Amino acid sequence: MAVRIVETSDPAGTESLGAELAGSLSAGDVVLVRGELGSGKTTLVRGAARALGVTDPVTSPSFSIGHRYRAPEVVVSHLDLYRLAGLEHEDPELLADYLGPERIAFVEWPQDAESELEHARVRVTLDHRGADRRRIEVTEG
Ligand code: ADP
Ligand code: MG
Repeated sequence: MAVRIVETSDPAGTESLGAELAGSLSAGDVVLVRGELGSGKTTLVRGAARALGVTDPVTSPSFSIGHRYRAPEVVVSHLDLYRLAGLEHEDPELLADYLGPERIAFVEWPQDAESELEHARVRVTLDHRGADRRRIEVTEG
C-alpha cells in the first residue's frame, strides 16, 4: 500500500497529478475519486484521461452515470454516482457497462456503490485548502 500526499495550487497542477497517476494504471484498474463539490475530482480525471490518450473533451457526466472514452490501448470510463442513492434499487448491470478487464474506470462519489467497488486498487481523496489550493491523497494498493 503506497500513500502519497500532494498539494496543488491550480487546476493544471491537479491535472498533472492525474497524468502522473495514469502512468501507474493498467487495464482493469478502478480508481475511486472522493472529495466535495469543486474539489477537483473531474479535473484530476481529465488529466489522467488525457495522459491515457483520450482526445475527446472530458466533462462531468450529467445525463447518465458515466462516459466512456476510447484511448489507444484501453477504454477510459468516467463515472459520477452523485445522484445514485444506493445501488440496491438500481439495475445491478448499471456499472457493468463501465467496468471490466479492458477498461480503466474513474468513479466520483463512489459511496453508494461501495460493495460493487470494493476491489478498487486506487483511491484518491481531494480536499479544499483555501482559494486554489487542494490537498490530494493518493493510495495505491
Ligand atoms: P469536482 O469534480 O470535484 O466537483 P471539478 O474538477 O469539476 O470538481 O472543479 C474544480 C473547480 O475548481 C474548477 O472550476 C477548477 O478550475 C477549480 N480549481 C481551482 N484550483 C484548483 C486545483 N488546485 N485543482 C483542481 N481544481 C481547481
Ligand atoms: Mg466532478
